[in-house]
Parts: sequence; structure tokens; C-alpha cells
Amino acid sequence: MSISPAPLSETPAGASVEDRVYNFSAGPAVLPLSVLERAREELLCMPGVGASILEISHRSKAFLEIIETAEANLRKLLGISDDYAVLFLQGGSRLQFSMVPMNLLGADQSADYMVTGSWGKKALEEAAKVGKTRKVYDAKETNYDRLPEPFCADGGTMDLDPQAAYLHYTSNETIQGVQFSAEPETQGVPLVCDASSEFLYKPLDIDKYGLIYACAQKNAGPAGVTIVVVRKDLAERADPNLGVYLNFNTHIASGSMDNTPPTFAIYINKLVTDWLLSEVGGLEAMHSRNAEKAKLLYDVLDQNAEFYQGHARPDCRSLMNVTFRLPSDELTTKFDAEAKQNGMTDLKGHRSVGGIRASIYNAMPLAGVETLRDFMVDFAKKNG
Ligand SMILES: *Cc1c(COP(=O)(O)O)cnc(C)c1O
Repeated sequence: MSISPAPLSETPAGASVEDRVYNFSAGPAVLPLSVLERAREELLCMPGVGASILEISHRSKAFLEIIETAEANLRKLLGISDDYAVLFLQGGSRLQFSMVPMNLLGADQSADYMVTGSWGKKALEEAAKVGKTRKVYDAKETNYDRLPEPFCADGGTMDLDPQAAYLHYTSNETIQGVQFSAEPETQGVPLVCDASSEFLYKPLDIDKYGLIYACAQKNAGPAGVTIVVVRKDLAERADPNLGVYLNFNTHIASGSMDNTPPTFAIYINKLVTDWLLSEVGGLEAMHSRNAEKAKLLYDVLDQNAEFYQGHARPDCRSLMNVTFRLPSDELTTKFDAEAKQNGMTDLKGHRSVGGIRASIYNAMPLAGVETLRDFMVDFAKKNG
């Protein structure tokens, strides 16, 4: 039997903007509406190009302008100097779990890892396959509800090696919802950060970092591109015998163009950073919006403490992923289902934490968080 689908022109097209929900997915996640609208407008034909971003050469003038603007936007937003390279890579943050030690961890060296949640744990597991590692902090005993002191009172301390090749940490643990409010002190050891689920949520002092990486699909664009900002002198440590793609220096030398880069994902990242610069007004403004949104939800937890139990300790609560439990699994299921009926999706927490997780990244509008806040207050009243 041959399968002959109806021509695309005769099958129903996508729904309309009015059908959009408040999407609290942890990733891939919500994108700014104006970014989606611009991408839609340009998808048939980019001005002056006569074709779509999906169809043009990565060597074309039009794409070179896009990748250069994406990089310039990131440098402007984060104040990144020429001492650092900005790379657009594939393989997600998972590949960075391997690439970082492959490039920065010499055979006679050891790297320090902080384990503050599921992602930090995975990063360490991968690095241990490449070279010598030390675990300098682990909050497993309390199911990763805290960070070390001074970020979290009674959080315990880190045991740093002043000779370490680098210290790796996860600035926002997406699953548990714990977030560093500042960089950990490293005593001169290069700092490496997995910033996947918070990248561009606030301004950074980039000079504190040796390397920072983030897959785009949480806060910076769609799946398919991972941004790496690396101090060039640190990248020079890499073993020249590494596979070509695996060596940061390949991408530094070629401007992320040694092979075909993920052109569409970079294009969307460029639109997201255009949005941050021109509509939001920079990362200072983005940070106050994020703080305002998160406070709305944490206030509900604090004011209904007998009903909602926050997972993260109050002093290290994430502005990006708000995690909490309800009195029972039945109520959790009911919460998720009723939220969906009210136009709010993807609120179910990760199985390792349970309960609810509301991911409220940069692009989640204030109105979405206000809608969730009102729903939470009402739900506690009716079911408490
Ligand atoms: C999502 C996420 C990852 C994994 O990213 P992939 O692109 O799927 O490899 C790693 N670290 C953190 C903190 C994340 O949130």
C-alpha cells in the first residue's frame, strides 16, 4: 500500500497567535513573540537575499552578517573583551561536558567540580572519563536544595585545590531550581561555568570566567547551537592531537565556520539578542524583570507555606526555575491538569524532585507569571 499524504498546501496550517499558551517548559522553552514574528516574516524570503535563512550558504554575505551581529550583540550585552572568543557550536551542553576537560585538563592536572544538582553531577561524570577530577562539593544528601556558603547559610563548604586546572560549576541547576547569585571565589583557579539555563538573564563580570557555556534552548534561542565564551590563552592549552571539531582552537581560528554551523539556530539567537538590546534595554533591565517575576511566585510559596513547599532553600532560589511540591501526588496531578485548562503548560516537575517546576526564562512575559500566581493562590484556597 502506498502512502500518499495530502499536499501540504491542502493540509491545515499552524494555529494562530491567539492560540498560544503560557509555556513553562524547562527547555526548549518560550521565545519572545516578536522574535517568532520576525522569523515568520523572513522565512519565505529575507530582504535583499531572495531566499530563506534555511536555504542560503553559511559562506554567503547574508549569513556572515548574521553570525557577526550575533557575536557583536553577545559582546555588547555581556561586555566581552577581545581576550575572549565567542563560539557557536553544536552538540549541546552535553558535548561541552566532554570538550571542556579534553581542552583544558592536561594529563598531569586535576579539575575541581561542584555538584549542586543533576547537571553538575553529569558534567563531573563525563570529565572523569577524560582525566583526573575532584568533587569539591556535593549537596546530594539534601537532594540538592542548597549551595555552599557563603551563598547558602549552613550550605557547607567547598574544598578547593589551588592547583586545579579549573573549577567547574553549574550556575543555575535547572532541575532543582537552585541558583548562584554571584560567582564562587576560586583563589586564582580558572572558573568554568555551565550557564545553560540562565545565560543572558543578568549582566556578568566576564573577566571572572575562564570559560562559560550555554546551550541556547533555555534562554538564548532554539535547540541546535551552544554558545561558548572562552579566554583565548586558556584555549591554547588544548592538545593539538584532539579531533578537529573537538578542539576549541579550530573554532576560534575559523570564527565557528570550520564546518557548517547551525545557521538557523544562530539566526534566532541573533534575533533574541536584538530583542534584549532593543526591546528589553539590556541585561540590567532584564534582570529586574526576572527578579520581579520570580518574586511573584516565591511570595505565594511563602504566604501559603502549609500548602506549597519550595524545594530550594530560600537563600539560593532560582529566578529561572521555580520548584515546589504540593501536599500530595493527587493534588500535583490536579494542579497540572487545571493549569493546562487555564492555558498554562509544562508545569510538571522533574521526577527526581517531584511536584511542580515553573520555568520563567527571559521570554516568559510578566502576564504569564501573574496568571500562574493568581492560579496558585486560588488553587491553594480551594484545595488547602
Ligand atoms: C539543559 C541543560 C543541559 C543539557 O543541555 P543539552 O543541550 O541538552 O546537552 C546542561 N546543563 C544545564 C544546566 C541545562 O539546563
